[in-house]
Amino acid sequence: MLIDTMEREFIRSGKAKDIYRRSDGCIVFVFTDRVTAFDGVKKGEYPHKGEICCRLSCFWFEKLENEGIKTHFRECIPPNELVAEEVSIIPVEVIARNYLYGSLWRRYKRGEIDLGGFLHGDGSEAEPLTSTYVEFTTKFESTDRPIAEEEILSRAWMNREEIEHIKEETLKIGSIMSSYLLQKGLILADYKLEYGRSREEGREGEIILADEVGTPDVCRFWDSEAYNSRGEVVSLDKDVFREAKGELPEVYREVYRRILGHQ
Ligand code: ADP
Ligand code: MG
Repeated sequence: MLIDTMEREFIRSGKAKDIYRRSDGCIVFVFTDRVTAFDGVKKGEYPHKGEICCRLSCFWFEKLENEGIKTHFRECIPPNELVAEEVSIIPVEVIARNYLYGSLWRRYKRGEIDLGGFLHGDGSEAEPLTSTYVEFTTKFESTDRPIAEEEILSRAWMNREEIEHIKEETLKIGSIMSSYLLQKGLILADYKLEYGRSREEGREGEIILADEVGTPDVCRFWDSEAYNSRGEVVSLDKDVFREAKGELPEVYREVYRRILGHQ
């Protein structure tokens, strides 16, 4: 097992991860067993949850880097620590959806959103969209909300080119993950990404992928067999906790086993 002997100072605790800064300037994320939903209102804690999300994130970061995606990832310290370059986080979450589900479906049903050409069928819950629908939500507000590109521009959080760049990266990341997951019997229904600006010499200001990626905390994974044969959504992600429709430890272990191929 790797032992990290470098000094570190505690910075803060997020909802799921504790954050430290190492003496070499890197950020260390300690993936805890905490889980929250509904902007932190519902809370829980499950053994090995942090380890599973950390190992999955490390796997995906390595894979994405190999495919040419720029990320903050530096190294994995098993079982549950991820070392990364510290970035200035762009204060929006990027949500990419392949299916009409969750809050998107609810907003659609309430008539709050026009999905135009993204709609395939009659707008029923869990139907596939014609292509990936990318949207932004706020990150540091007590109740996060969808935010229009115009507001992102007016707050000078990103310029037009940066927004376009992030959308393109998000689609690339999604297609890399989706094609891998399909071989493992999983549909990537939707996923959340965060990006930040690098402070590293040589790539200063460049927007790179940050936070965590491809975990059941930040993606919706559906069993593809159940969906394709019966149109049934069998969630293998945080929805089992949100909606109390399954045992989180078993479900997270199952996703881990499918993606990484061992127990
Ligand atoms: P949150 O409660 O905001 O979801 P998490 O428990 O997910 O927090 O902890 C991760 C926090 O660290 C998030 O606020 C995320 O935006 C931030 N973060 C992610 N990657 C980086 C990075 N490379 N540098 C600085 N901050 C980061
Ligand atoms: Mg988070």
